[in-house]
Amino acid sequence: MNARKILTLDQIPSGEKCVITDVHGHGGFRHRILEMGFVKGQEVTVVRNAPLSDPIEYKILNSHISLRISEAKQIEVIEVDNYVPNKDEFFGTMTEAQRSAISNEMKIINVALLGNPNCGKTSFFNFATGLHEKTGNYGGVTVDSKLGVFKHKGYSINMIDLPGTYSITEFTPEEKYVRQSLVEEQPDVVLNILDASNLERNLFLTTQLIDMNYRMVVAVNMYDELEKSGNKFDYNYMGKMLGIPFVPTTAYKGIGIDDVMEAIIEVYEERSQITRHIHINYGNTIESAIDEIKGKIAENKSITDQYHARYLAIKMIENEKITHELLSSCSNYAEIVEVTDKQIKRIYSEYKKDMDTVIADAKYAFIRGALKETYQPSKEPHQDRSQKIDNILTNKWLGFPCLFLFMLIMFYVTFMVGGIFQNWLEAGVAWFGDKLGQLLPQGWFNDLVTDGIVAGVGSVIVFLPVIVLLFFFISIMEDTGYMARAAFIFDKLMHKIGLHGRSFIPLLTGFGCSVPAIMACRTLENRKDRIMTMLLIPFMSCTAKIPVYVIFIALLEKLNPNLEGFGFLMMFGVYLFGILIAILAALVMKKTAFKKAEEQFVMELPPYRIPSAHNVLIHMWSKSAQYLKKMGTVILLASVVIWGLNYFPQNNSQTRAIDAQLSLCQGDETLSDEDKTLLVKQLENSKRVAQQEGSLIGYMGRAIEPVMRPLGFDDRMSICILTGFAAKEIVVSSMGILYGSGEEDGNEHLLQSFQNATYQNGKRAGNQIFTVPVTLAFMAFILLYSPCIASVVACRKESSRKWASVFFLYTTIIAWIVSFLIYQIGNLL
Ligand code: GDP
Ligand code: MG
Repeated sequence: MNARKILTLDQIPSGEKCVITDVHGHGGFRHRILEMGFVKGQEVTVVRNAPLSDPIEYKILNSHISLRISEAKQIEVIEVDNYVPNKDEFFGTMTEAQRSAISNEMKIINVALLGNPNCGKTSFFNFATGLHEKTGNYGGVTVDSKLGVFKHKGYSINMIDLPGTYSITEFTPEEKYVRQSLVEEQPDVVLNILDASNLERNLFLTTQLIDMNYRMVVAVNMYDELEKSGNKFDYNYMGKMLGIPFVPTTAYKGIGIDDVMEAIIEVYEERSQITRHIHINYGNTIESAIDEIKGKIAENKSITDQYHARYLAIKMIENEKITHELLSSCSNYAEIVEVTDKQIKRIYSEYKKDMDTVIADAKYAFIRGALKETYQPSKEPHQDRSQKIDNILTNKWLGFPCLFLFMLIMFYVTFMVGGIFQNWLEAGVAWFGDKLGQLLPQGWFNDLVTDGIVAGVGSVIVFLPVIVLLFFFISIMEDTGYMARAAFIFDKLMHKIGLHGRSFIPLLTGFGCSVPAIMACRTLENRKDRIMTMLLIPFMSCTAKIPVYVIFIALLEKLNPNLEGFGFLMMFGVYLFGILIAILAALVMKKTAFKKAEEQFVMELPPYRIPSAHNVLIHMWSKSAQYLKKMGTVILLASVVIWGLNYFPQNNSQTRAIDAQLSLCQGDETLSDEDKTLLVKQLENSKRVAQQEGSLIGYMGRAIEPVMRPLGFDDRMSICILTGFAAKEIVVSSMGILYGSGEEDGNEHLLQSFQNATYQNGKRAGNQIFTVPVTLAFMAFILLYSPCIASVVACRKESSRKWASVFFLYTTIIAWIVSFLIYQIGNLL
């Protein structure tokens, strides 16, 4: 054979195996990749390319991970057959040290739940807390955590469910958050949950926790899967070696939870026979470096009270920014840095590798050593069910059609089945408003309650079934693991418009409601990605806009008989149009405000799992609760304000004149009864319109009307656009008041009034308003202009005031331009 050619991972064909010889790259990507187990000596299988041949799916340490080609290029490999393990490679041994006693007077135990994403933390949490959890978004932070308070055998347990992480470094919001919580909350016991089907990678986090010196219990979760696979894991022996009680659990069925609680109490009470503090041994060179640095750090009592000095020393070797910041307040910081630099040079001269790699390699060596003694893979080749499913669902040809089909089913069920419930709720709200209106004395208060509060809040409640169903599907997608595949399939496309495959998830959620979608952006690691995704969400038509489309599509069908029967297609077209605009906007952003370096993309493809009803229900509930909260606060306030703008001032000169006519007409003996009713009705209608036009919002509408004139919109449409800012569903009811008589409000009636509506002033006075171009332009405007006030508020919370203003303005400007083009071009045709 010739001299060895250097191969990189991207050159290995699908289905082949290879062994890693080196990992290049830097920063967050490098960290992530080391955590995932891409370390020297590790075997990797190339599973397949995504449908667009980038990214590529790899199998490593029993988990599936996707990398972009550009990233796979960073990893040097060698064919399995050519690999000769180096005898000198270090396999860790363990030393012992007695853990220092910590006294606890109270019987409150603070437990922090930690583990890799998808290891079953939330399932565990929900079972342990018995659903009595007090859920809360801890305001201002980038990620969520949940606190559960419950009693167990006379102890009060505060359990906090932290976001999933592969390690505790400083590269993602989740990791930073977890790290900060650990330091601030100082849990009495850390409960580390492991996914038993992927021990090697899951134990990586455990080794970091050992470095941090927490008292720990480990739950070996997914134990059912381990047993089924025939692999053997001597968790007792592992526990003894690590000095941590290991307890097997099957969290989604609630098995083993009590044993874990028992172990937590034992550890807390210092009765555990197993608990002791061990050190991960990093080998002589590194250990002596740690000792040197640790000595300097230990001079700062205030810091070592909060952090284990050994841990900080290790982090200094890794050159972690946060640790540098933390220690920069020390009086001997300069000295610490000097010692660290010297030691890093020494380590480098021996290993010739980046410090990150050296430490990660040593950790993996330690883990492998420990697993060698305790873990026995089954002899039978185990069936990889996930891989079989993936052969279809992420297949080059079938991936997109499958996803498309799934989306179609999802939207069909959500909107059709949800629509039925929605009709029921609508009838219920109308009935309730009527009854209440009869009970309360006539007057402005009655109007406020029925037209303002009940109608406003009611218009939001009716969307609850759709939201619940949508989140039913989203949580099924998340729990089964299909969501990650969807991101995998979409990554190349998303990448083309400057986004990340993961942005697909918030964007998809945007079709339900922008508020949770904006909140879902938290899972994106990079701030630019986060903001850019947020800015695109408004173009994903949310469910609140559906009633507007429904009525205007019906109108289009009436205006042009050729369109009749194409309602469903037109609806689909509206959605596609929104997506198209989003793509264009993204392309512009990519070229301008969001120019950036190549993105990091490492994403795990978790094994497919049957979702548990328990989890799905909880997810649906929490999302619906979020939605209802939005309704209860912002929307209620907005409804009342808009009602007020509509209602006041009462009695302008015009309405007074009509009132006079009304009383004249009623007293007129010469009129027949029939004529009288007709006349009274006409007068009442004109009074209602006069009232609207004389109201505050009428003034506002007229004020912006000149801006809207080039789009073919009259002042009433401008008013509706204003009201829609409170919530998109209000647009239809405002149109009902302004164009209809308001009494026999039904779609048929409203459509009739649209067809009869004419411009009331200006050049076009007397002409029909709703022609096909105006209707299309108006639909486009509603689709694209600023999302409702609740989303703008959410955007502000998740980013900054500046971005919230951009969010509001740029969507409205785009809406104007697009509607202008539609109207002007439509009129030429
Ligand atoms: P988290 O991301 O760590 O919060 O994990 P989740 O609790 O959301 O669980 C991820 C998936 O694993 C869900 O589909 C659960 O139903 C499933 N799951 C959780 N615990 C177990 C278990 O012990 N065995 C099996 N087979 N599946 C589990
Ligand atoms: Mg979770």
